[in-house]
Amino acid sequence: MENQTSYVRPSWDEYFLQMLPVVASRATCDRGRSGCVIVREKRIICTGYVGAPPGQAHCDEAGHLIWKTIDENGVETEHCVRTIHAEANAIYQAARFGLPLKDATLYCHMEPCYNCAMAIISAGIKRVVCDKRYHKAERTRKYFNDAGIELVVLHNEIEDYGQKPSNNSQLKTVFLVGMCGAGKSEIADFFIKHGYGYFRFGQITLDEVKRRGLEPNEANEKPIREGFRKKYGMAAFAILNMPRIDQFLNEGKNVLGDGLYSWSEYKVLKEKYGDQMIVIAVYAAPKTRYERLVNRAEKYKDDPNLKYRSFSSAEAKARDYAELENIEKGGPIAMADYTIVNDGDMENLKKQIEEVWEKINQ
Ligand SMILES: [Zn+2]
Ligand SMILES: [Zn+2]
Repeated sequence: MENQTSYVRPSWDEYFLQMLPVVASRATCDRGRSGCVIVREKRIICTGYVGAPPGQAHCDEAGHLIWKTIDENGVETEHCVRTIHAEANAIYQAARFGLPLKDATLYCHMEPCYNCAMAIISAGIKRVVCDKRYHKAERTRKYFNDAGIELVVLHNEIEDYGQKPSNNSQLKTVFLVGMCGAGKSEIADFFIKHGYGYFRFGQITLDEVKRRGLEPNEANEKPIREGFRKKYGMAAFAILNMPRIDQFLNEGKNVLGDGLYSWSEYKVLKEKYGDQMIVIAVYAAPKTRYERLVNRAEKYKDDPNLKYRSFSSAEAKARDYAELENIEKGGPIAMADYTIVNDGDMENLKKQIEEVWEKINQ
C-alpha cells in the first residue's frame, strides 16, 4: 500500500486526557493547576478548571485561602479553600447549561478527592479516567467501588500533589535518636535556635490523647501509639510525620525531627530523604539516664507541651527493654551519622553539639 503511514492515533482515553493541560491553563491556584473534561458518547460536553467562583478573588491575585484540617489519623494538612476543584467546576458548568451527566465519563489528572468523588457519584457519572494516582484517594476508591463507578488510572504512579519539595535538595532533615533521658531535647533546642523547623515524632500520640480528652500518661498513650502501628505498620511515626517534614522543606526550612523511634522508621525515611537525611544519636549510660529521669518532671513542671515526665528506674528500664526489643531502636542508634555522648556536664554537651553542627554544615 502506498499511502501507509506510521502515525498511531491516540485512544479515546488518551485523546481526552491530552486536552487537560489546555483546560488547566486557565486555572488560578498554583497549588495545583488542574483541569477536567466530561464526555458523553465520545463528545466533550463540558470542562472545568481549578478556580474561585465567578466574581470572587483568585488565588493568583489575592493569595491562597489556607485552612488547616485534621484528618482521621490526627495528621494536620493545609488546603486552599478559595477555589473549586476542576471536577466540581465541570459538573457546575453542566448544571448551568442543563446538560445531563448521567452515564458520562470524567477525565482528570489524578484521582479525585473525596468531595469531588461524592459530586461525581451524585451527578450520575459512570466512569472516571485519570492519569495518575493521588496519595489520599483511599476513600474515593471505596466510594466509586460502592457506587459501581469504573475508575481507570492510566499510570499507576502517585502524584505527590502539593507535597513535592521543590528545589530544596540543599535542605537537611536531621533526626535525633536516643533512649529516654539521653538528652535529645538539649540538642533539639540548639537546632531550633538555628532556624530549623521542629517536630517531635511522638507528638501525634499526645495530640490524639488530648483530642480524646484523656490525661497524658503512659497508660493512655500506649494503646494509641500501638493503634497507629497496627494501622500503619512499624514505620507509622515516620509515615504520619512526613507531611510535616515536607511542609517545612516546601517552606525552605531545614527540619529537625526529635525522637525517631524505630528501625522501620529509619528505613522509610532513608528511602525518601536519602542524602538529605542525617541521624544524630545521643548516648548516655543507663545509670546516668535513670538518675536524670527520676526527677525530670520537677525540673520542667511548667512545660505546657508535657514533653517531660518522670520515671522510676524500674519504669525507665522496662521502657528501654521494650524499645530495644519491640521497635528495634538500636538500629538507628547504630546507623547514626553522628553520636553525641552525653555523660558529662552541660558544657561538654554544648561543645559536642557545636562540633556536630560544624560538620553537617561543612
Ligand atoms: Zn489557592
Ligand atoms: Zn476535588
